[in-house]
Amino acid sequence: MSKKVVVVGAGIVGVSIAEALARKGVAVTLLERDVAGSGTSSTSYAWINSNNKKPDSYYELNLAGLRAHQELAPDGADWVIWGGHVEMAADGGHLAELSTRLERLEALGYPLERLEPEADAASLGDIRIPGDAGLVVRFPEEGYCYPALYIAEFLHRARAAGVVVREGEAVVGLEEDDSGVHVRLADGTSVDADDVVVAAGRFTGEVAALAGATVPMATYEHPGDVTVGYLATTEPLPARVTSLVTSPWLNVRPAGGGRLMLQALDLDLTAAPESPADTKGTVAESFLTRLADLVPNSRGARLAKIDVGQRVMPADGLTIVGRSDPSWLYVVATHSGVTLAPFLGEAVSEEVLGRDQELLTDFRPSRFSAGTKITPARAPRRPGEQ
Ligand SMILES: Cc1cc2nc3c(=O)[nH]c(=O)nc-3n(C[C@H](O)[C@H](O)[C@H](O)COP(=O)(O)OP(=O)(O)OC[C@H]3O[C@@H](n4cnc5c(N)ncnc54)[C@H](O)[C@@H]3O)c2cc1C
Repeated sequence: MSKKVVVVGAGIVGVSIAEALARKGVAVTLLERDVAGSGTSSTSYAWINSNNKKPDSYYELNLAGLRAHQELAPDGADWVIWGGHVEMAADGGHLAELSTRLERLEALGYPLERLEPEADAASLGDIRIPGDAGLVVRFPEEGYCYPALYIAEFLHRARAAGVVVREGEAVVGLEEDDSGVHVRLADGTSVDADDVVVAAGRFTGEVAALAGATVPMATYEHPGDVTVGYLATTEPLPARVTSLVTSPWLNVRPAGGGRLMLQALDLDLTAAPESPADTKGTVAESFLTRLADLVPNSRGARLAKIDVGQRVMPADGLTIVGRSDPSWLYVVATHSGVTLAPFLGEAVSEEVLGRDQELLTDFRPSRFSAGTKITPARAPRRPGEQ
């Protein structure tokens, strides 16, 4: 009889794992409390990169994520666009940080090219390099994802491989008795399993606690916390933006159908999930003024919405992935979930089948065992710190 695995959470990470397990012959049930893709994966800048990832093992992990996306869709697909990333630095602190980062990335062999603002302006479409930009760099192999379309693709593949997808099913208990492991649902029924993979995004700690396990996650308490950030989306506008751009003023990428997604990490100080920003308020004005400077063709742009994304943030900022205690419980929570999803699908499915993956060694849940000093994750405030 094939192994039975329940995956909890149908975000970009859970669907990747469910699909890979089923492809390898496992009987998978994917349980989602709400609808697939409705968690953090629905509000993400979704930049695929290993640009500012430390320490080196986290860089290697994210590089494996970038490579897995490239292998999955080498020429792009409806869910992934390989337009490269352009970063601009102006103020002294950012210039110094970017120069140091470039030295490290060059030593690691990460593809990048320094741009000459005048000579290369034409290749940037309607993006205008501001006069005070001191350093402009292109990372040609980076791209971005449309998580909803990735999830749609993987749900399709998962169902074709035999995964039973059950939406509207909240997991409220994880228990083991003499007859095995039982995943209890809110309606009073249960699903039996040999292993349970919890990929419940920012609720991974809460779900793992149902089995008595500890997965320390940063939680939202105050506006501007590390766990929250604005993502504004414009109405369609006639501007050519082909790459993802990060700068001290504004991050911009296409959002489909002529829309742009905007992010400005310094504006996140007021981000609060309980009081979303008004598309005509002061936050909106700041977004639009900065957009008009960076993309002059965007004058007249309007915002369709400003989301407050809620990050999946392990307590030390790094991915948590591996078997927990009890050993039938496997947990995965990561703030680089879009970049890592296809790699984690493969790697986690291998580990559930008993084949440990070296790239995951530094990210085990056991690093948080009693006595471990936990460094709280810092709020992202610079390009590269999504
Ligand atoms: C502002 C912002 C910018 C970001 N930018 C980037 C970026 O540029 N690049 C990048 O790689 N990543 C980025 N991220 C992070 C990335 O979006 C996340 O890491 C990723 O979406 C997490 O996916 P997930 O599947 O782990 O979680 P989720 O998408 O949250 O999915 C978890 C699912 O579990 C379900 N669930 C929870 N509890 C239960 C339960 N008890 N029973 C059943 N189901 C349950 C939820 O309903 C949810 O659908 C960003 C995030 C934010 C907020």
